[in-house]
Amino acid sequence: MTDSAPTILIVGGVAGGASAAARARRMSEDARIVIFERDSYVSFANCGLPYYLGGEISDRDKLLIAKPELFARRFHIEVRTRQEVISIDRQAKSITIRDLDAGRTYRESYDKLILAPGADPLVPPIPGVEAAGVFTLRNLEDTDRIAAAMPDARQAVVIGGGYIGLETAEQFRRKGLDVALVEMQPQVMPFLDREMVEPLHRQLEYNGVRLELGNGIASVEQRDGRAVAAVLADGTRLPADLILLGVGVRPNVALAEEAGLELGAGRGIATDDYMRTNDPDIYAVGDAAEYTFGSTGAKMRVPLAGPANRTGRLAGEHAATGRSRPAPAAWGTSIVRVFGTTAGITGLSLRAAREAGFEANAVHVIANHHAGYYPGAQAMALKLVFEEGSGKVLGVQACGGDGVDKRLDIVATLTHFGGTVHDLAELDLAYAPPFGSAKDPLHMAAFAAENHLDGLARVVQPDVDLCPYQTVDVREPYEVKALPLAECDDIINIPLDQLRDRLDELDPARPTIVACRSGLRSYLGTRILAQHGFKEVYNLSGATAMREFALNRRLPASRVTTPTGVPAPDAIMID
Ligand code: FAD
Repeated sequence: MTDSAPTILIVGGVAGGASAAARARRMSEDARIVIFERDSYVSFANCGLPYYLGGEISDRDKLLIAKPELFARRFHIEVRTRQEVISIDRQAKSITIRDLDAGRTYRESYDKLILAPGADPLVPPIPGVEAAGVFTLRNLEDTDRIAAAMPDARQAVVIGGGYIGLETAEQFRRKGLDVALVEMQPQVMPFLDREMVEPLHRQLEYNGVRLELGNGIASVEQRDGRAVAAVLADGTRLPADLILLGVGVRPNVALAEEAGLELGAGRGIATDDYMRTNDPDIYAVGDAAEYTFGSTGAKMRVPLAGPANRTGRLAGEHAATGRSRPAPAAWGTSIVRVFGTTAGITGLSLRAAREAGFEANAVHVIANHHAGYYPGAQAMALKLVFEEGSGKVLGVQACGGDGVDKRLDIVATLTHFGGTVHDLAELDLAYAPPFGSAKDPLHMAAFAAENHLDGLARVVQPDVDLCPYQTVDVREPYEVKALPLAECDDIINIPLDQLRDRLDELDPARPTIVACRSGLRSYLGTRILAQHGFKEVYNLSGATAMREFALNRRLPASRVTTPTGVPAPDAIMID
């Protein structure tokens, strides 16, 4: 070997591995680069698999982003499929590979080794899980098996309410299957706060998906070796001829661990700033590796495509040249579409921020994704999580329709640069009525956070126990009648426009919470009371709308507008 022409071997040929290989070639024309992939395909679009199952992507070939022929022709990269790397000899700097078709093993020497073996779906050790009709979804082979089973299937049970489970449930419905979705936590997308995913629950039910929350799969009932039902922990029996397990992934770290490479606290392969393991000639990227998580600075696994591609690219460059920029932090920026509703997060939820030890708070804003007077405005709920005192933005969650992705990405950009709510308030964002508002929902959230930090309108969270407080609901009486503020009887209703004239009905010495429908009128009411000598006044963040979601209350029948009797999924209400 010479410094300029190393042999770079890569384990795994999809997101991280393919990115690493292509970048290594762009940095070194001379390097010998070989990808070993145990499956039959490399560089395929895992993220597109659910949409192929549902027919939104109709051409299977489109899922194959770069085939071995292209790697060979354009990049002079050798791709060996059906080759499983089974061990690493760090002293000899070689790997042993099993040719899965020929059944033989052989060795290859490396100067640099890049591990991108990803993660495998978790399969819970429950009775019957081996039955025909039980699937996981990770690669094209899985997809082909599921696609082959779908035409004969009528009832599907999806286990797991993460994004793979949600997307697949949606696509199964699209294909006309009866679908039940089972999630052990009391909510789907458990890394978001409860109230921010409730619209997803409603959307799922509205579209005929049976939701089983707070319930896990206990066994698979089978007949003649075929799954016929999923049996849940509470005994519920869900008939099924197709069961998809989407309960999480386990990083493929055995190869690294057996070679003596260090694992981190999250049981991913430990890496430094350049994605090197504790062996400087071995890199680890993607779902098997640990990254620095932006909000906390802690090392953890973030099994998402973006970080896998970016770290693969950096490791490829570093392996080829000995130099690269350091790997950026990951923020867990993720998004899911479930029928008409989109939800996502970047950074930390409020729950996660507090668990991580931050003195964190959050504001909710419910607003239109573009100017309300321009046709087609869609309601969106935002929850901005920040640190008390510094105002540092720790994360944002968004739920709605169009424009959710834009708000997540703006905050992902802001947090990358360590921004505060004050920075967010100052951003000069593009605006014309079809695209946004002169004061974007993100500006509104930043203003609300600033008002809290400045003591102008302090917030309490929507699930707060109202009973110890004097609670003033500033909605109109007909609104209160239609949707009373949940879980407290002792609420004083004074419509906002009468508040100044009826102050004598309130006790200015009592801690007071002001509520309305979405938080805007209550903010105005908070300011009126504060300027009339009320000592301790809070705005109920997100108001009735978010309280309904946070306490998991279903809207009363009078608000039900759907044919199935399920509350309308667009029940995000705007003042
Ligand atoms: P992978 O892309 O999984 O590639 C690892 C490869 O290594 C595999 O092909 C495996 O066969 C191979 N391998 C493992 N061990 C060996 C060995 N010993 N020898 C040889 N080869 C080996 N992320 C998002 O950000 N957004 C999404 O919308 C999204 N949707 C997804 C939908 C689905 C259905 C799935 C399955 C994943 C989705 N992801 C999404 C996650 C994203 O695809 C992964 O985070 C990303 O692919 C990880 O890249 P990786 O290179 O680490 O692993």
